[in-house]
Amino acid sequence: MSAIPSFRIGQGIDVHAFGDGDHVMVGGVRIAHGRGVLAHSDGDVALHALCDAMLGALALGDIGVHFPPGDDRWKGADSRVLLRHCKALLAARGWQLGNADITVICEQPKIAPHAGAMRAAIASDLGLEPDRISIKATTSERLGFTGRGEGIAAQAVCLLVPA
Ligand SMILES: [Zn+2]
Repeated sequence: MSAIPSFRIGQGIDVHAFGDGDHVMVGGVRIAHGRGVLAHSDGDVALHALCDAMLGALALGDIGVHFPPGDDRWKGADSRVLLRHCKALLAARGWQLGNADITVICEQPKIAPHAGAMRAAIASDLGLEPDRISIKATTSERLGFTGRGEGIAAQAVCLLVPA
C-alpha cells in the first residue's frame, strides 16, 4: 500500500493590465468598470489563476501551454470554457477538484459584492457545491501596480482528490 496520500496541491498566479473598456471579467462574472483588461482571452485573472493551479497540481504545465496566446481558437475566449477544459483534463487522469481558494488583488472594482456569483459560476463549471470554492479580495494598500490601479492580479490554491 502506498504511503503517499491521494491528494494533489496546486497554486496559480495571474496578472492583467487595465486598458480601454467598460467592464472586467472576474471569476466568470462581468463587472462594470471604467477600464477593461489587456488580454488575448477575456482576461479573467481569477479563472486563469485557478486553471494554472489545477494544471500545476498534476504537473501539466500552465495555461500558456494549453491555450497558446497565438492560437486564434482562444482569441477573446470565455475563460469559463478554459476552466471546463482543465476540469476535463483532470477527469481524464482520474482527478477532480476538492476545493479552491482564490484571492483577487485590486483597488477597483470592488470584488466582494460579486463573490457569491463568482463562487456559483465556478462551482457550476466544475460540478461542485459552491462551499468548495472560496473567493477573497484584497487591495495592496495602494502599493505597487495593483495599488496604482494599473492592473488586477489573482492567486489561487487548490486541492485535487481522486475522482
Ligand atoms: Zn490571464
